[in-house]
Parts: sequence; C-alpha cells; structure tokens
Amino acid sequence: METASGATVMVVDDEQDIRDASERILNRAGFQALKASGGDEALDILEKERIDIVLLDLKMPGMDGLEVLKRIRQLSETIQVIVITGYATVETAIEAMKKGAYDFIPKPFEPDQLRIVVNRAWEKIRFIQEAHRLEQERSRTLYDLDTEKSRIRTIIESFPSGVVVIDPKGHVVLMNPAFKKLIGLDPGVTPGRPIKDYLPNSEVCRMALEISQGKHVDFDDIPNLEFSLGDNRYIMARGRPVLGQKKECLGAILNLVDITSMRLLDQLKSEFVAKVSHELRSPLSTIHEQLAIVIRDMVGEETIQDQHILARAREKTKGLISLIGDLLDLSRIEEGIICHEPQPVRLDELLKNIIDFLKPSAQKKNQSLTLSLPEQALPELVADPIALESIFGNLITNAINYTQDGGEINVTADMAGINIRIRVKDNGFGIADKYLDKIFERFYRVKDDKTRYITGTGLGLPIVKGLLDSIGGIIDVESEFGKGSVFTVLIPVKL
Ligand code: ADP
Repeated sequence: METASGATVMVVDDEQDIRDASERILNRAGFQALKASGGDEALDILEKERIDIVLLDLKMPGMDGLEVLKRIRQLSETIQVIVITGYATVETAIEAMKKGAYDFIPKPFEPDQLRIVVNRAWEKIRFIQEAHRLEQERSRTLYDLDTEKSRIRTIIESFPSGVVVIDPKGHVVLMNPAFKKLIGLDPGVTPGRPIKDYLPNSEVCRMALEISQGKHVDFDDIPNLEFSLGDNRYIMARGRPVLGQKKECLGAILNLVDITSMRLLDQLKSEFVAKVSHELRSPLSTIHEQLAIVIRDMVGEETIQDQHILARAREKTKGLISLIGDLLDLSRIEEGIICHEPQPVRLDELLKNIIDFLKPSAQKKNQSLTLSLPEQALPELVADPIALESIFGNLITNAINYTQDGGEINVTADMAGINIRIRVKDNGFGIADKYLDKIFERFYRVKDDKTRYITGTGLGLPIVKGLLDSIGGIIDVESEFGKGSVFTVLIPVKL
C-alpha cells in the first residue's frame, strides 16, 4: 500500500457518520485525519494546523461549503480541496471545481472511491512539491555557478601579475588587465588571436604552446623564462598546463611578473661583490706567496712551531683566495658576462679528463672514482667547455670531499630523451632532506659532525646551478643522510 506519511486530511462535514467513516478509511490509507463539523470550525483548524487536503461537504448548515472553499483559497494556493456532494448537486460540484476545488466525490461513497480521490490529490501535491524543489535547486545551482564564475573572473582581473591563458592551438582565451599593462597592450585589446600577436617574445610563446599541447607533464621541468621588452624592463614568465578533470591538458596558463627592480638589486650586489673581491685578491695573493717564502727560509729546530703556525695561516689564505675566486665567478655568471664560447664538445672526453685530473684527490682518501659511459657514443654538445668543466669539477670534488675514506664515487652519462643525463653518485655522508633545497643557495653549507671541518665556500653548487641555467640545463639531487647522494644533471642536446 502506498504510504502517505505526513499528509494530513481534514474532513469537513456536518454528518458525524461521514466524518467518522472517512477518518477510519483515511487512517487505514496512511493519512492523518482531522475532523470539523462546520465551516467556522474548519477555518479555525486551518489557522492552527498544516493541512494538505480538505474533504469539504458543500451542503452544510451555517457557513456554506462554497464560502469555505473561497476562504481556503484565500488562505493557501497549495491545499487541495475535494468537495463531497450528493447527486442532486453535481452542478454545484462543477461550480466548486471552477472556484478552485481539485476534485469531487459524490455521496454516498465507497471507501475505495475516497481512497482513490484522496491519493490522487496527494500525488498532485507531491508533484507540485517536487517541481518546486527542482526549480529551487536549479536556480541555486545556476546562482552558485554564476557567483563562482564571476568570483574567479574578479580574482583574475584584479591579480597584480599578468595572467594569460591559451588553448592548445596557441590562441589566447583570457588575459587580465595586468598582462596588457605589463606588455604595453591597449586596455581594449580582446583575446582570440595567436599568443605571438600579443607577446613579443618567441621563446615564451613557444614554451606556452608546448605546455598547452601537453608536452610538459612533469611540472618541474618547466623553466621560468626571463626576457626583456627592450625598455630596460625585465619580465619573468612562468607557465603551467591547465588540466581537466581527467588530467587531460586543456591549455596553458602563463604568469608574468615584472622583475626589473629585483634584477637591478641583484646587479648592484654582484657589482659590489665583484669589486670588493677584486680589490682583495691581489693583496691576499701577495700575502700567500710571501708566507711561502718565509716558511721556506726558516731554519733551525726552534722554528718548527712557528713554521706550523705559518703553514696554517697559508692554508687560510688559500681558502680565502678560493672564496674570492668563487665569488668572482658567481658574480660574472650572474651578470651574464661569463664569456660563453659555445663549441662542439664531446662530453665523454671532457668527463674522462676531469676524472683523470681529480683521481689523485680521491686516491688520497682511498676512494674509488669511476666513470661509466654507454656503449653508444653520446652525441656532441654545443656548449662552453669551461662551463662544463666547472660544473662537473665542482660536483665530483664535492663527492670526494663529502665521502668518507674508502668510499665510492661513480659518474655515469647516458641519454634521457633529448637530454644527456650525467649522474654523480657517492656513498658518502649524504644530506638530510631538510637541507636539500638549501644547498643551492649562496654560502649555504651543511654543518654537522662530519662536514664541519671540511673547508669550502658554499658557492660551488650556486655556481653549478648558475652555469647550468645559462646553458639551458637543470640539476636535481637525491640523497639519504648517512648513505650517499646522487646529483643528476640534464643538458639538452640541440639537434
Ligand atoms: P662547499 O662544498 O664549498 O661547501 P657547495 O655549494 O658545493 O659548497 O655545497 C654546499 C653544501 O652541500 C656543502 O657544504 C655540503 O654540506 C653539501 N654537499 C654538496 N655536495 C655534497 C655531497 N656529494 N654529499 C654530501 N653533501 C654535499
């Protein structure tokens, strides 16, 4: 049996038998029933209770049924009224329906007749309720969508850095006012054309297109590109793919930031460091050499102690000279004035030479230093060989320095896509996770029990990173404290 839980029916009839019989039938059908013997009582109940359906006798003493119907309609649109009427008054029933009654049931009626007509009215109520609910839900969803959309639009519009979104064909679908201002576009310019029509830098446009076509699945290999607009302003562009729900690439988003002031500061700082280092280098070198002469000329038993002190002083001056050398290198790299003489380089040969050069240092610590190359020769690189020597010299020297006596250092080179991949692996001290992204910062040195006494400047890895940036390469490090480290370098082969 269909349940009508919660639905309340009021029976309004002056005949008690009809009221009681209807109550029983309705209760059995799952409705709640309330009874009223006349119009006034019915209206009273309607004021206080929530009624869904009214069974209304049209012929009652006192207030006439049609009048009650009129008042109910004034009270509520949703209450369904079923009029109860004798055969003789079918016309009145029809009139009642015209005035807003839902149905009628002739007297005397069978229990089934009553059940059917009340159930029908209840069904109609539920239809109305459901339609109402759906309508509300639909308008809420639309409202939510609309506010969500305009919220995101407002955020992008008021974003202080330039934002531009392109589709996989490279057409601009969205750009914010900051982007137009940064690039010097008219504020009225609209999207729709290829990115190169708006952005005057072919490298950034190419990167954006590659990203939008899903060529950079791994976000980490997307470089930040810096470019100048030719008016002494520098801009940094960062790109990311726009991914759909199934992680499919729908396009690319570029974020452009004006880095002119940062560049200027950096340049001032590099100039300062270069100047100070330069001024310090010659007197320090002189002291260093003079110390050597003094030590050499010392004779006699009693001078051994002094000799020792002077030898330690000479070690310190050597450290300082190498720090100054590193500082000068770094500032030159940062200023972009390191003279790049790109030329064809055979990386396998270059690595062999560095290893031969550094073998004695490894042997002093009883370490094995090996090079593993693929069977097939690596393609030629076009790069500055001095930069490459500095990169791998630094990495292998670090591996020797930060590995215990008797440790193993292995250098491997192979192809990884369009890149030559070089790994410098050691089973030395390793680096704890928390320091991994710090070691590429200038002057950062991990100071623990094992490394505290190893001399260094904290500039080796920043130099390596700076040089790699300048030749389009990247570096990554994996390490486990106490077990060893692997520094992986990727250098693209320009075919
Ligand atoms: P430096 O070696 O002059 O201190 P670097 O910039 O070359 O400076 O290295 C920074 C720090 O990174 C080092 O002080 C050291 O703590 C850590 N490090 C570098 N290479 C290794 C390595 N192969 N194994 C363990 N630690 C390393």
